[in-house]
Amino acid sequence: PLDIFGGRRNSKGLDLTDPVAFGEADAARERFRTHRWRAEPLGAMSAPGGAELAVVNPADHADQVGAVVEASEAQVHEAFTAAVASGWGGRPVQERAELLRRVADLYEANAVEFYALLAREAGKVWADAVSEVREAVDFLRYYADEAAKLTASPRGPFVCISPWNFPLAIFTGQIAAALVAGNPVLAKPAPQTPLVAHRAMQLMHEAGVPRDAVQLLPGGPQVGTLLTSNPALAGVAFTGSLPTARAIERAMAEHASPQAPLIAETGGLNAMIVDTTALTEQAVRDVVASAFQSAGQRCSALRILYVQEEAADRTIEMLKGAMDELRLGNPWELATDVGPIIDRSARDKISTYVAARETQVVHRLAAPEGGTFVAPTVIRVGGIADIPEEIFGPVLHVATFRGDQLEQVIAVVNASGFGLTFGMHTRISSRVKRLVGQVHAGNIYVNRNQIGAVVGSQPFGGEGLSGTGPKAGGPHYLPRFTGAGSSLQDG
Ligand code: GLU
Repeated sequence: PLDIFGGRRNSKGLDLTDPVAFGEADAARERFRTHRWRAEPLGAMSAPGGAELAVVNPADHADQVGAVVEASEAQVHEAFTAAVASGWGGRPVQERAELLRRVADLYEANAVEFYALLAREAGKVWADAVSEVREAVDFLRYYADEAAKLTASPRGPFVCISPWNFPLAIFTGQIAAALVAGNPVLAKPAPQTPLVAHRAMQLMHEAGVPRDAVQLLPGGPQVGTLLTSNPALAGVAFTGSLPTARAIERAMAEHASPQAPLIAETGGLNAMIVDTTALTEQAVRDVVASAFQSAGQRCSALRILYVQEEAADRTIEMLKGAMDELRLGNPWELATDVGPIIDRSARDKISTYVAARETQVVHRLAAPEGGTFVAPTVIRVGGIADIPEEIFGPVLHVATFRGDQLEQVIAVVNASGFGLTFGMHTRISSRVKRLVGQVHAGNIYVNRNQIGAVVGSQPFGGEGLSGTGPKAGGPHYLPRFTGAGSSLQDG
């Protein structure tokens, strides 16, 4: 038999179409419907924490999900001292890997609580919450297996800064990689989603990862600056916006050793090309998923659709119809397809952008009240070269192109400087080849949606302004967390 699957299986997750399994999970989740969580710095610190802030449900501002105590400056310093003295890197790699596997088992055992947290704190609909727990578990087990191949030594204290859009999966993936490679970790979750991170960190400690080897420092940009400008810093794993990545780069250039890597994953201005040979129903289904699932709050999400002129009318008409079927609302309900925008400031940014392009709006759903919602919106841009900015929400731009303009479309896509995901719907194999060869993007998808990379089989990461590589969930990721100094990028 072919040994291409490596024996490892990704987590099974929860089948939402199985009435028995789903019914049990749904009933079990009920006990977290009004639960209030509390997050605070976790690790080997003894100094008092900083400010305490409320965490509210983005879909329902009357629902207080919990509170977070931010890390104080003294705690950040203590955390570095403890990390340096932890001796974590001296443990055998198999022992570190085994601890990660135990964390994975604990995540699965506590999946229902995570589903509740992901819905109420992060606005995740059922399907997104289930995929996210699976992905977090897969990162843990995949990196645990990959660690056996490591040849170089640990680097030292790693700072992991994660985003609110994958508050469990990306939070866990960064930490798992740094830890299993032998680096003690100081993790700062996004200020919008500290509760799920705190619960995850509790489980890491419960699994047996020592409190000085992995520590949680919740907070905003000030905590981030304290973390990334500490001279003991040996590397940073960051996922978030491009301006923040640049600020981290500057802080590291000033304070950290020149060898300390910045493993950054930032945004994208992701495009899809649909030509006249595409199957319209299939293309539309994949456009809707790529642009509007997770309310467009994925780095991988589709932002600009290029449809060949002859196919434009039927594609746009069918797209409007498919959008009308989407249900917006509270992610707690199984029927909800599109949940809220993470917070007011993110919502206002999207709304302001759409208002400026109001005359170009060709379709829009209605947004519910009570939380920070933006309705899925389609904007018809003026031409191929009318490139939008990255809008982190359910806003899809559509442009049309003539058959002889493909070259120009490719040039415009590449000119954005980003290169995260790219999708195409076409039945012409020479065109597939040409687009794969010419478009600069880390993840290219053919005749399917362009979100939802899979740990171990479709590593995720971009080129150019979208990230430094290597791809998360792929074979080149871990070595970057060791002294190997590898700058290999996935192909
Ligand atoms: N890995 C996710 C996907 O493939 C996106 C991660 C992100 O948004 O940062 O959809």
